[in-house]
Amino acid sequence: MVIPSLIESKRDGAELPPGSWAAIVRAYGAETMPDYQMAALLMAVVWRGLSGAELSELTSAMLASGARLDFAGWEVPRVDKHSTGGVGDKTSLLLAPMLACCGAAVPMMSGRGLGHTGGTLDKLESIPGFTTGLPLSAAAAQVRRLGCALFGQTPEIAPVDRRLYALRDVTGTVPSVPLIAASIMSKKLAEGLGALVLDVKAGSGAFLPEEADALALARTMIDLGEASGVRTVALVTAMDRPLGRACGNALEVEECLLALGGEGPPDLMEVTLSLGAEMLLAAEIEADRAVARRRLEATIASGQALRKFAEIIEAQGGNPAVAEDPALLPQAPHSAVYRAREPGVVAEVRPRAVGHGIIAMGGGRTRVGDTVDHAVGFVATVRPGDRVEAGQPLATVHAGDAAGLEAGAGALDEAIIIGRRGVVPRPLVSHRVTSGGIEVLPPTS
Ligand code: URA
Repeated sequence: MVIPSLIESKRDGAELPPGSWAAIVRAYGAETMPDYQMAALLMAVVWRGLSGAELSELTSAMLASGARLDFAGWEVPRVDKHSTGGVGDKTSLLLAPMLACCGAAVPMMSGRGLGHTGGTLDKLESIPGFTTGLPLSAAAAQVRRLGCALFGQTPEIAPVDRRLYALRDVTGTVPSVPLIAASIMSKKLAEGLGALVLDVKAGSGAFLPEEADALALARTMIDLGEASGVRTVALVTAMDRPLGRACGNALEVEECLLALGGEGPPDLMEVTLSLGAEMLLAAEIEADRAVARRRLEATIASGQALRKFAEIIEAQGGNPAVAEDPALLPQAPHSAVYRAREPGVVAEVRPRAVGHGIIAMGGGRTRVGDTVDHAVGFVATVRPGDRVEAGQPLATVHAGDAAGLEAGAGALDEAIIIGRRGVVPRPLVSHRVTSGGIEVLPPTS
């Protein structure tokens, strides 16, 4: 295999011969293919795409580069949810305990922040002591014991994706339907699932902002999942504004604790319940959507989901007292209220600018291996469409120092657009996609 010729073929739009992607994954895994060649190849894929056969070979090779969770002989229905990435997107932290309380087993393997989006692992690691680095056998044992584990992609699982994910993050090669699909599905297929629900984001803050691309990504991942015997369903959800109010690792965990205590913001709860109901249906734990939603709501109303979250935190070495006292989470030493400079209507709250603001304050990465300040971020108190007066508080910036406060305020200048009228937001949950086709959903907000 001559790597430069394969790069050239892909650059020129050709389909690589059968066996090429498996060989490329092997070579990259064995470190005989350097990062610079892989980066060039990834950029060629961003522009030229992959055929169905190439995508399936790439995904299988990435999956085969590592181990799988072993649940042999265990009949409890296993289901997971995976998001294509967003800002303020914290539904995983709610869904894992809620679903576990409904009798599902949720082996939730998550990622770190990618580009301007946040990552579930970074959020969880803001909980003092919490470890996401569970060996596979420990993760599987915890799922059997507690119904759920929240862990990172260990070196054992799809190790090639692990390295590609970090390389794509810093080489502008994230936004690609086949690369996102192969990355997500190579990990999800290693979890030993019976069912998978995908939260595919659309809107300016999504990696693929256009609805048509989001639908194509959903169909692509569903095909990969179903071909491997995993019932796979996708919901397309809005990422033209952040989800919920809090953006930033510890702030988002705090919002989740409030949500599990029954005080979640309506948009966050709507997306969470829609995804959760879909998970219960896909896992065949419930047959009726309304019943599934009520069952999920009951896990919150009864306090069961919050107790389960505390149990998970304790099992993974974290301080379970945060469940009752979110003030135990890291707190930024500086905060400032960000106010409207003029009266008008909040036309937009742009998620990309918010995500970049968090990174500028140290709450995300610009290079592989950067450390993250978990405490920094924003809590926005306005939504698109709200009328505001000059001087009215719009958000709070939480920063590590005065320069961070300034960077945060600068990001909000770009993020919060005040105009004469609001821009019509995307429906919160716009489409349901299955192997049978695409259903346009009625508006929920
Ligand atoms: N999430 C992933 O796991 N991979 C991607 O490429 C994008 C989002």
